[in-house]
Amino acid sequence: MPTSYIYLAILLYTFGSSSILVQGVFQQQQKPLLPFSSPTAVSNSNISSPPQYGRFLHLTDIHMDDHYKVGATITSFCHRDPRKHKKKKARKGKLAGHWGTPTTDCDSAPHMVYHSIDWIAQEWKDKIDFVVWTGDNARHDTEPGKIRRSGREILEYNIKITGALQHAFKRADNSSVPIVPCIGNNDIHPHNLLTGPTDTGDSNPQLVVYSDIWRDLIPKDQVATFRHGGYFSVDVAQGIRILSLNTLYFFDSNTAVGRCDAYGEPGWDHIQWLQQALEQARSEGIKVYIMGHVPPTTKTFKRDCLHDYTRLALDYQDVIKAHFYGHANADHFQILHRYPKKKKHQHQRLARQQPMDDDDDDDYDNDDDDDDDDSNGGCGRGIGIRRSNMGRQLRKQYKKNLKRYNGINDLVVIHVAPPLLPVYNPGFRVNEYNVDPTSPRFGTWMKYTQWYTDLAHWNEQYAHGNTTPPSFQVEYTTDVDYEMKDLSPQSWLDLARLFVQKSPAAHSLWSNYLQNMVVQT
Ligand SMILES: [Zn+2]
Repeated sequence: MPTSYIYLAILLYTFGSSSILVQGVFQQQQKPLLPFSSPTAVSNSNISSPPQYGRFLHLTDIHMDDHYKVGATITSFCHRDPRKHKKKKARKGKLAGHWGTPTTDCDSAPHMVYHSIDWIAQEWKDKIDFVVWTGDNARHDTEPGKIRRSGREILEYNIKITGALQHAFKRADNSSVPIVPCIGNNDIHPHNLLTGPTDTGDSNPQLVVYSDIWRDLIPKDQVATFRHGGYFSVDVAQGIRILSLNTLYFFDSNTAVGRCDAYGEPGWDHIQWLQQALEQARSEGIKVYIMGHVPPTTKTFKRDCLHDYTRLALDYQDVIKAHFYGHANADHFQILHRYPKKKKHQHQRLARQQPMDDDDDDDYDNDDDDDDDDSNGGCGRGIGIRRSNMGRQLRKQYKKNLKRYNGINDLVVIHVAPPLLPVYNPGFRVNEYNVDPTSPRFGTWMKYTQWYTDLAHWNEQYAHGNTTPPSFQVEYTTDVDYEMKDLSPQSWLDLARLFVQKSPAAHSLWSNYLQNMVVQT
């Protein structure tokens, strides 16, 4: 990778959106950036390309940490060796493991990240149609006082992981499995904060940089859109389109942008684009999967952005087949409900960005929504502590929404996949969907299999001299473990209805769900 490019990126981060620097980026793009980059772009031309296996992967929240040190202390976030009593601590398993350190605040060891990508690709690249990859590739900013997380470091993780994925997911015939990225709140600098385009209409410099890092993954005709707003659409299989969202413009912790109901704000633009993209897909008879990093919830999204998102999700449920997200580091689904339409005077008031009253909707109480995020809006890892709390709140959310609202007419189901980062154990998901174009159920999400690897086991093996790298195994499947015949929104609401019943069978199913939330620990 040309270092000059990286330095340019640092300049961009340091000085913001100077048009001279942006121009510099465009000039730099003549040079290939990635060591593994392929000239073959994933583009709308893929619509006619075979094969159609009816499967796709979901990878999320890799959080690679180049400072990860095997044998380091947990209290140093796996960054530094202990001063003394190392052997004693090692015996007690209190030091960073070879393959990773689950149930701590340590991020991912790079050698495990590369191994996981290779393992997954080796197993699946010839059996899947595309990869959904929902962001947060860079480590958390765990020690801002000790190891500063710079814009350069964040970009380097994204460059390395993009390269590794492109290399690994190249098929024997040299074709590339389409990989669809999006930006996580830890993939930008500073953390959580992404501004919109400059006043003069220039593209956001960080988005320009990502458009180059992902230039083989973003269709050529979508590059301008991506540079403007960080979102794009891509046809990944016959009749299947992904809308990759930039949720940072909806994210409540992104204080660099305004609200979605204020004309001209990046979030407003994004909602307009989403609506147009859904309208277009409907007119073309194409089915859509929506993906993004931060899942829409009452805690994570700006309220009006959540209202708009929910409205579009319901208005276009004939087009949208599922909503795939990451960020929360726990395997679960959320149920969002319809909000009443705003009255005209409220629109005007909101456009002036005055504080919103609570009486314009019947939203949950504050204690009623998910608890998947920590208080500062980062990726709440909440190790082992929040499971029962989160479970309780989800159950309450399901119960209330199923009781108050009219099923799929009013409710939207949002899916959050667990991370490759070993918050618990590293995991990835293999999804299956209907690929029969003659079926009225074409594009319907049918099933998924959740995979994981037991890091405690592999670390122990390594400690005993067995250097075999970890392999992954099945944790659960939706058809067997939840007895779901398909993964349509109706089927998820039926499952939620089962969860909240008071019967031994319901209790057992719910316990199973809570266990799966934390990926076999
Ligand atoms: Zn995140």
